[in-house]
Order: sequence, then structure tokens, then C-alpha cells
Amino acid sequence: MKITKIKGTLDFTGNEAVKYRYIEKTCTNIAKKFGFSEIITPIIEQTDCFVRATGEASDIVQKEMYTFLDRGERSITLRPEETACVMRHFVENKKYANPGLTKYYYFGPMFRYERPQAGRYRQFTQLGVECYGNENPLMDADIINMAWQMLSSIGVDNLKICINTIGGKESRAKYQVALKEYFADKLDELCPDCKVRYQKNPLRMLDCKVDSGLEIMANAPKIKDYLEDCDKEYFDTILTYLDALGLKYEISERMVRGLDYYTNDVFEIIYDNPKSQLNGLAVCAGGRYNDMGAEFDGPTIQAIGFAMGVERLMAIMDEAENTDYLEQNDSITVITLGQNAKLAGVKLTNYLRKNNLHAEIDYAANSLKPQFKLSERMNARYIIIIGEDEIANQEMTIKDTVLKTETKIKCSELNKYFNIEGSIDYAY
Ligand code: ATP
Ligand code: MG
Repeated sequence: MKITKIKGTLDFTGNEAVKYRYIEKTCTNIAKKFGFSEIITPIIEQTDCFVRATGEASDIVQKEMYTFLDRGERSITLRPEETACVMRHFVENKKYANPGLTKYYYFGPMFRYERPQAGRYRQFTQLGVECYGNENPLMDADIINMAWQMLSSIGVDNLKICINTIGGKESRAKYQVALKEYFADKLDELCPDCKVRYQKNPLRMLDCKVDSGLEIMANAPKIKDYLEDCDKEYFDTILTYLDALGLKYEISERMVRGLDYYTNDVFEIIYDNPKSQLNGLAVCAGGRYNDMGAEFDGPTIQAIGFAMGVERLMAIMDEAENTDYLEQNDSITVITLGQNAKLAGVKLTNYLRKNNLHAEIDYAANSLKPQFKLSERMNARYIIIIGEDEIANQEMTIKDTVLKTETKIKCSELNKYFNIEGSIDYAY
């Protein structure tokens, strides 16, 4: 039987790989400007890391984790998300003892056993940030601002920010009671998962992908009617700051987010393009989660973060035919005319490579067509053409495909043309 890649996974080569790294580089550069430094954690963790942080009733723990027993009978899980891992690290190393804010960003693969479809994979990549330290609505607004800047910098359009608050513990407790009362006589109309959620964590019901269209969902009590004054004030202040930062947003009253660890503000940045099959998918999601530290037996750690789905961003860039990621490519193709020019061409190619330039030559072809094809495949900026006449005269023709120029130069001018530092002039 043929060996194929596993369902729901992707290979990247060529421009796809370039795009992937472009997103990483562009977004992490912005994170660095906001004072975030990189954290790299293992891909495998104790299963409990996610059960405790993400919550027993979350979709991730209920049905999406890749969990197995290792040879020592320990339950191991391939990380489905990174927020729990970063908190595990922070508490394990008592980093909460450090003063001030701790700001991490990460980039790497996550694993979830989901039904593969457009923008949904079993191995996918998240780029995310976590910020620990005294909560402040200005910080929350600035984190959303940073996410927006990242998305703008890679040139992704048609996005909208959706935000909500699920309040602190007291607000949520009152809201849970209201939800339980409301749904008590409506359980028959709900999906089997929601019946479980009703028992374990009724807030989760609002996040259900199966029941989301039902009228009873639309009419369910809204968190805003159960917020404590302090939670309401915190949320309103974030909105004021978002306004001041010039960010447009929509309040999504039923957004609770799929993970149990959130407190107060939650947000998503959604792809809003009705013409696309990716319409409505979240490219970024996050919020505040002040209660997670305690799940790791640490103190209360005030925390906020978000994660972006890199493959979703790639798919959206493809749809928009966004080619910003194709950086200026300064590579060179050496094209030779006539059999006797090939060896001179290889020598020239080597000289360029020794001087840190990316140069390629077609070793076999003597006719022009395949040699120009190589140049197209490389997306080369420069094409150097040499024939027997050029070699005899110590000359070469250089085409610059960006400036659209064609110049014949002496070999002695080559160093100057490519800014090669060297006192010895090139000669065939
Ligand atoms: P969704 O509601 O789409 O399932 P989620 O709430 O499960 O998303 P999070 O756990 O918050 O997503 O992850 C943050 C981001 O990671 C998402 O907004 C999305 O861009 C990306 N993401 C999540 N799951 C997948 C997946 N299976 N494939 C690709 N990207 C994903
Ligand atoms: Mg999900």
C-alpha cells in the first residue's frame, strides 16, 4: 500500500513554505516590538496539563486530544494548544516571583483530532502570545491592537474583531444559574453534547457548533444582564481604549470561547467574506484567563493571550491572491550559449556563490528555452548570459528583471555590479 500523509495534515514546499515562514517572521517581529520574547516548550506534555487547564467539559478534552500511553504507562498528550504549556512552565519555575510583566510569544504545531475541512486540520500551527502580570484594561486593549497589527502587516483583509466579556467568578456563577433555569425544560431540543454541557458547564452550550442556529439559543439569557459592576466597568474601559486606538469591533453577546479557562474579556478576529468558503472562521482567538494559574497549584496569575491559526491565514492570503510574501529575490541564473561556454558558466556560478550570492546554472541544457525556464522557476532577479564571443572579450550580458534593463559589462566590472568586495577582478 502506498504511504500517504496522515489525513488532516499538510506538507509545505516552495512558495507555500516561503509563505509560512513569512507569516512567522512578520508577526513575531511585531511581538518583539511589543516586548515579547520567544518561549519554546515540548510538543508532548502530561495529559493532565490540558485536562486541568482546558477543562473537562471542553471540546478539546472531550474529543480532540491525541493521547497515548508511553512505554512507561504514562498518559501523554500531543499539545492541542499552547496556553496551558506556557502556564505549566511559568508555575513550575515559579516565574511569578519575578516583578513586572512576563511576555512570551510562541510559534509551532498543535494537534487536534477534528474533522478535517477547509481551514481545519489535525496538525496545524499556532502563533500566539501570553502576557502575565497585573491586569489592566489598557493592556487587554493593546494585546488586541497587537493582534490587529500582525494581521495588517501580512496584508490580510476582510477581518472583524468580535469581543465579549464572560465576567469574573461571581458574574459567571449568577449567569450559570440563569442558564440552567432557562434550559431546564428545553434539553430535549438540544444535541447530546449540550446535554452533557448542561450538567458540567452550561456556558459551554452557547459555544455549540450544532445548536448555534436554534431560536432557543438566540433567546438564552445574556451575560451582560448578570455582570458585577466591576466586571462591567473593566469591559467598558477596554472598549473605550479600543475606540481610542482606532480599532473597530463588534460586541458578540453570545461568544464564550471554547475553553474553560477564560475570565472577563474574550475576543475573536473573524474572516468576514460571504463569498468565501472560509467565511466566518476565526483567524485569531483569545482573552483573559486569571484562574488558570490555580489549576497548576500556583497562585492567582493574571493572564491574557491569544493564538492565531497560521494555515487559515495562508488560505486567506491565497484567496486574496496576496503575494506580499514573495520577498525580493536577488538570485542569479547563469545562461550559456554554445557547448564551450558551459565550463566558463560553472566557474562564474561558483565565483558568485563564493561571494554569498545565490546563483544557479543548468548543467545540461545548451539551448535557451530550458535555461530560461530554470530562471522562471527560481524567480531570479538577474540573468547573466555568456556565449563564446563574450568569453573571448572578457564580457557578459546582465538582465535585471526588476529594473528591466539589459547591460553588457566587462568582467572587471562584475564586482562593482553585485557589490562584491574584493580587490581581484573576475576573469574567465
Ligand atoms: P474553532 O472555533 O474554529 O474550532 P477554536 O476556538 O477551537 O476555533 P482556539 O483553540 O482558540 O480555536 O485556537 C486559536 C486559533 O487557532 C483559531 O482561531 C484558529 O485560527 C486556529 N485553529 C484552531 N483549531 C484549528 C484547526 N483544527 N485547524 C487549523 N486552525 C485551527
Ligand atoms: Mg475548535
